[in-house]
Amino acid sequence: MSMDADEYQKLALRTLDGNLDKQQVLSMGMMGLCSESGEAIDMLIKNISSGRKINREQTIKDLGDVAWYLAITAHAIDCDLSEVFQKNIEKLEKRYSSPAN
Ligand SMILES: [Mg+2]
Repeated sequence: MSMDADEYQKLALRTLDGNLDKQQVLSMGMMGLCSESGEAIDMLIKNISSGRKINREQTIKDLGDVAWYLAITAHAIDCDLSEVFQKNIEKLEKRYSSPAN
């Protein structure tokens, strides 16, 4: 099973409230990214305190929630998700291909 980034973004946007303007989507997206990352940290805290292993399925769901907010945040600035991914890879390649100093 495979899905490309822009296809995911298109499908994710079908579940976004169409009454929101771009500024509202941007705010909601950025807050959602923080909130969902916080949920992942909360799960980690519970796992550390209980000694249990990370629950793979729950982690996948949480990553999906982060992906949804990432997709709508990129949309709010008129950006395809693939552009976010591509530019991140370019930044990393530049950073890690430079000689150490
Ligand atoms: Mg969640």
